Amino acid sequence: MVRKFDLIKYKPLERKFLLFRWGLLIVALAELIRFQGSFTGVFFVGFFIALLYNAFISVCVFSKDTRAEKMMRLCLVLDIPVCTLLMAGNVGLLNMLFFSYFFFVSFHGMRYGIPGLIIAAAESVASLFITSFKISDLFVSVNIYLFSLLLLAFGFIIVFEVNSLLNISQYQFRKAKNQAARDPLTGLPNRLLLEKSFQKAVSNYQRTGQPFCIAIFDIDNFKKINDQKGHVFGDKVLLVLARVLKTNARATDFICRYGGEEFLIILYGCGLEDACLKADKIREEFALNSYFDKPLTVSAGVCLYQKGCSLTENIEIADKALYAAKTAGKNRVISGSRFGVDLFHKEA
Ligand code: GH3
Ligand code: MG
Ligand code: MG
Repeated sequence: MVRKFDLIKYKPLERKFLLFRWGLLIVALAELIRFQGSFTGVFFVGFFIALLYNAFISVCVFSKDTRAEKMMRLCLVLDIPVCTLLMAGNVGLLNMLFFSYFFFVSFHGMRYGIPGLIIAAAESVASLFITSFKISDLFVSVNIYLFSLLLLAFGFIIVFEVNSLLNISQYQFRKAKNQAARDPLTGLPNRLLLEKSFQKAVSNYQRTGQPFCIAIFDIDNFKKINDQKGHVFGDKVLLVLARVLKTNARATDFICRYGGEEFLIILYGCGLEDACLKADKIREEFALNSYFDKPLTVSAGVCLYQKGCSLTENIEIADKALYAAKTAGKNRVISGSRFGVDLFHKEA
């Protein structure tokens, strides 16, 4: 079954298809001029219908009709029969007929995957049958008829292979892109996606006026933990903090591993006070984690997004607040603003 989104993926109303359609008509017209007088009435009828069909689609493409999806479904159903009719009126156009089949089948198949390939194939074969019965001089012998079907079958195999190769390379590309944007240890996004999420938060702020905050967390004395307990334990500590962050953040919040033992959260729709309380809850939960034999601590710097500030400026402010938390004795949350770092201060 072809699902709805598959139909939308294949867009016969695109301009490149329009070029192809008019191209076919022009080729047919050139043939008409070349073989003057040897055309059946079917050719003229076919040409006229194709002309009207092309004109109709051209208007649809340029009018950007809101009912475009319905138009596209119509094109999906009519494309092959109209092309068949256009080509069917003359034996001399037999090769072009199969090229046009092949071309459309390729596009249908590539965009739909296997179900689309089957539908397009069935449509092509049906058109082929109907045409051959109606126009007696199109298929002069059974051999030509079989040869044509064979050609079609080869076409499908080639399209199927090309489609599979394209799918594989697209899948590998998507996988590599996804891997590059994620931290392999915690599975969290890394800094690559940070700018995009920040821009999303800014546009949400501009649209709704809802504030948002940035919080940076840094594990206290992590170097010592690594030195005393080993890097494997250090990695587990990082995983624990990542889990605490994930369980405390909203589904819409963005969490990333910003550096070695530094994590950053964008808290959407959250004022400074709420963000500091949230950061403090994370700090407490991390320290109380039963995995550690003695409490491990984390410090955080929080800043409220100021209109017009860039991501770098916001991170600088949050970083200054974090530094202030470290110098004030660690294991605490401090907020910062453009004017200083002591607006909000919650000690452990
Ligand atoms: P402070 O309390 O001031 O933050 O001191 P600190 O020791 O935590 O800070 P510092 O930035 O000097 O040390 C960070 C350490 O984190 C250094 C590095 O060896 C370690 N680290 C960075 N990435 C990883 C990682 O993926 N796994 C492990 N186990 N350690 C890491
Ligand atoms: Mg650090
Ligand atoms: Mg640290």
